[in-house]
Amino acid sequence: MPSTIVILGTGGTIAGTAVDPSDNVGYTAAQRSAAELLAAVPALKGQAIECEQVAQLDSKDMDHATWQRLAQRAAHHLARADVAGVVVTHGTDTLEETAWFLHRVLAPAKPLVLTAAMRPASALSADGPANLRDAVAVAREPGARGVVAVLAGTVHAAADVRKVHSYRLDAFDSGDAGPLARVEEGGLRRFRPWPEGEALGLPVISEDVASWPWVEVLPSHAGATRAGVDAMLAAGVRGIVVAATGNGSVHQALQAALARAVAAGVPVVRGTRCAQGVIVESPAGARDAVLPAATAGTPWQARIDLMLALMSGR
Ligand code: ASP
Repeated sequence: MPSTIVILGTGGTIAGTAVDPSDNVGYTAAQRSAAELLAAVPALKGQAIECEQVAQLDSKDMDHATWQRLAQRAAHHLARADVAGVVVTHGTDTLEETAWFLHRVLAPAKPLVLTAAMRPASALSADGPANLRDAVAVAREPGARGVVAVLAGTVHAAADVRKVHSYRLDAFDSGDAGPLARVEEGGLRRFRPWPEGEALGLPVISEDVASWPWVEVLPSHAGATRAGVDAMLAAGVRGIVVAATGNGSVHQALQAALARAVAAGVPVVRGTRCAQGVIVESPAGARDAVLPAATAGTPWQARIDLMLALMSGR
């Protein structure tokens, strides 16, 4: 029975510190190592847990090079016979993007658990230690698999997890799908099956991240014009995700510019700006659409899908 858990540190508020312990917002992210975060959780003392620092950044600055390395290191440890699961400490800002990226590339048969915190490690009411404890419990859960996020006692599947609040501790949500499970006193109350999917595989994500195609997200909004699309086409964009209003509608000025992008060989997909839901199309609409609807839930997920599709040729 594999029993080792590996914690991969990437930074974020969970590893952040402030000068004043009662300051929850004026802090610097990514100051403490994964090993220091582990040492701050008495409940994890004596457990078979290894730490590795993959990066040390504020996740607002997450980049493709870190994603590439993180996917590689996670895959390496998950392939070890003695490892039950891998935990990634991350910032909350782009956690949902990293979760979806890892899901699409690795779709692992063991648990790959992202966790984070809304308060820095130095805060009076730091939420990081409990989140880390819960993430390790999920990574140890027999039968657990796939990429999930564990925050505020809730387990979210990578496909559904969204940051929905800028400040409160319970800042994440799984929308219509609902949470995958709750962590209660170290035990799991599960509502849905563990996530599964087809892994694209590490060979798709070249170490030469400069070669990854530039795919941009562009919102449709009141007063939209063609200028943004024109500028991106001139600058060599390889794909565009339009963050469309409502059920996939796009401002007419933008629509015309995007149609020109498609004609020029730049794929364009629509995601919805709405906080919840996906674009629901009539079958005829889907067949005739110049700008197809994204299959993934958010524009940020659709950006990852389009980028990976361009890289894998699928
Ligand atoms: N800016 C921080 C980050 O994403 C926010 C956080 O972790 O809560 O790294």
